[in-house]
Amino acid sequence: MNDTSKARLALAGDGPLVVLTGAVMSAESGVPTFRDAQTGLWARHDPAALATPEAWDRDRDAVWAWYRWREHLVGSAEPNAGHLAIARAAGGRRVTVVTQNVDDLHERAGSSDVLHLHGSLFAHRCDTCETAIEVGPAPTVPVDRLAPPSCSRCGGRARPGVV
Ligand SMILES: [Zn+2]
Repeated sequence: MNDTSKARLALAGDGPLVVLTGAVMSAESGVPTFRDAQTGLWARHDPAALATPEAWDRDRDAVWAWYRWREHLVGSAEPNAGHLAIARAAGGRRVTVVTQNVDDLHERAGSSDVLHLHGSLFAHRCDTCETAIEVGPAPTVPVDRLAPPSCSRCGGRARPGVV
């Protein structure tokens, strides 16, 4: 039995199910993978150099702008047949989705028990005191610099809620 057949059987069963998903799941929805996100304005940046605490300390306006653009790209994508199949499999049973993805496509497909191993693009928090910070909608055009909002509690800055 191949992997696709095994997955089909597991989704069709009635026992508790844990599903692990990664970048390819979202790529099917048109969400650029971490490296694919480096197009246009961002082509000259190394993603590994942008997504680090050191990059944040060095140039947080650039890092914030890049993450906010990724939010926009994710917000423009729709859950695909895979996300929907997993959500449908829940029916009356326990289905836990463990994902490496920082998007919300599983939730938008209808899955309610989703664990984000790498955090969420949409869960912003203070870079100093970790307080959750609500930010406005992501810009709909890419910009190369954007100042993150300040924390009302300590004056720190909003950061992406991802590892
Ligand atoms: Zn704070």
